[in-house]
Amino acid sequence: MVKPAQERREDTSGTMFHPELIERAARARQPVDGFPHDESRNLANCPALVLNADYTPLSYYPLSLWPWQTAIKAVFLERVDIVASYERAVHSPSLDMKVPSVIALRQYVRPSEFPAFTRFNLFLRDRFACQYCGNPQHLTFDHVVPRRLGGRTTWENVATACAPCNMKKGGRTPRQARMRLAVEPTRPTNWQLQERGKAFPPNYLHESWRDWLYWDVELEA
Ligand SMILES: [Zn+2]
Repeated sequence: MVKPAQERREDTSGTMFHPELIERAARARQPVDGFPHDESRNLANCPALVLNADYTPLSYYPLSLWPWQTAIKAVFLERVDIVASYERAVHSPSLDMKVPSVIALRQYVRPSEFPAFTRFNLFLRDRFACQYCGNPQHLTFDHVVPRRLGGRTTWENVATACAPCNMKKGGRTPRQARMRLAVEPTRPTNWQLQERGKAFPPNYLHESWRDWLYWDVELEA
């Protein structure tokens, strides 16, 4: 049975993302003073950046990264083309190839208009600053209308808040707590998040990814 287009799209763009790889890769790549290290020795640090068929990243937030196994499988299933590779190679009786660092889907996947509701995306929407006082430190999340008053965990009811503001507000509404939000929370589009993201580039970029990440950014004078 042929699945509807919507469902197939989600198969490709949703389930194969591993955003936690960004975090893990970033931690693994922290340079240690005095110790030259080969960050690609561990295959876990070799995710592939996934580009759409138009050679733009499939997703920016989270950055579309697949684990090396998924990338190689997709190569063999002829779903992707290899654009760039790591120096690191994998060998087996039936396989001998460099680990792909950038791959491009052969079939164009239409990007969704709205980003996933994730903690990272929420921080990004709020520019990594407390929406009550502007503090960029000790960030957490505030239910604008508290959960005990029926407030839901949605783009429209969750705002970035620093721990002190969160404590101070407690289980009250902003009005009850006499605290003002800088901006009413709304659901951002992918485009809006991408614009925000230009100020906060991902801290982990393999050299061969750079060309594909920000090609559409106008250089600032
Ligand atoms: Zn605050």
